Amino acid sequence: MHYLEKFGVSRVVAQTKYDWDFATEPEPNLAGRRVYLPRGRTLGGCSATNAMIYIRGNAVDFDGWADEGAPGWSYRQMLPYFIRSEGNERGDPRYHGHSGPLTVQDGRSMHPLVDHLIEAAVRSGYHPTTISNGALQLGFGRFQLTQRSGARCSAASAYLYPARERTNLQVFTDALVLQLLLEDRRTTAVSIHR
Ligand SMILES: Cc1cc2nc3c(=O)[nH]c(=O)nc-3n(C[C@H](O)[C@H](O)[C@H](O)COP(=O)(O)OP(=O)(O)OC[C@H]3O[C@@H](n4cnc5c(N)ncnc54)[C@H](O)[C@@H]3O)c2cc1C
Repeated sequence: MHYLEKFGVSRVVAQTKYDWDFATEPEPNLAGRRVYLPRGRTLGGCSATNAMIYIRGNAVDFDGWADEGAPGWSYRQMLPYFIRSEGNERGDPRYHGHSGPLTVQDGRSMHPLVDHLIEAAVRSGYHPTTISNGALQLGFGRFQLTQRSGARCSAASAYLYPARERTNLQVFTDALVLQLLLEDRRTTAVSIHR
């Protein structure tokens, strides 16, 4: 197995034209090694190459950012946006959306070994969880995926492709953005290199 595959980066995508092929600077705490830094380079960005696991940030982290001076980032303020974006096939409506553009479903690859691992964790005293983004995120269980009918639901599938017919939308691929021109905080022109 290629080492990248351990991190969910299939060899099909890593270090191809669909990835920027970034690496960190030499890391002093890793004996100077540079660490591969996958970043998707296609419509949908990393959501087109990622591992599709749907786990939101923890409420405590959002609240911490708000407390440290990021207005609007508390969990309570963010939750309506998560709910609005989410098209989950199940889940408590206080935490989950069921008709949003980003489809979230249970995985279809149900390897029985996973259930044995979850059972072992629960027998060891850990919480079982059937959904990763409810009132409590702590616990062992199967996570859900940003998938639609078993296939990837990237940001492009969720948001861009449904808007394809809009007359005010033009999509350029193989184009590097060099500059955005702003007027009153509104982008009025984009400079690209093709
Ligand atoms: C291998 C991998 C696995 C991951 N697994 C998960 C997971 O399972 N679950 C999860 O929640 N998250 C996962 N992530 C993280 C998640 O995918 C990203 O955090 C998320 O997609 C970032 O979205 P974004 O829109 O901020 O940026 P990106 O997805 O990086 O989108 C930025 C887009 O802009 C384009 N772009 C940048 N600069 C220019 C330019 N100058 N000109 C033109 N285009 C440009 C890029 O090519 C890209 O298409 C993973 C990421 C990777 C790489």
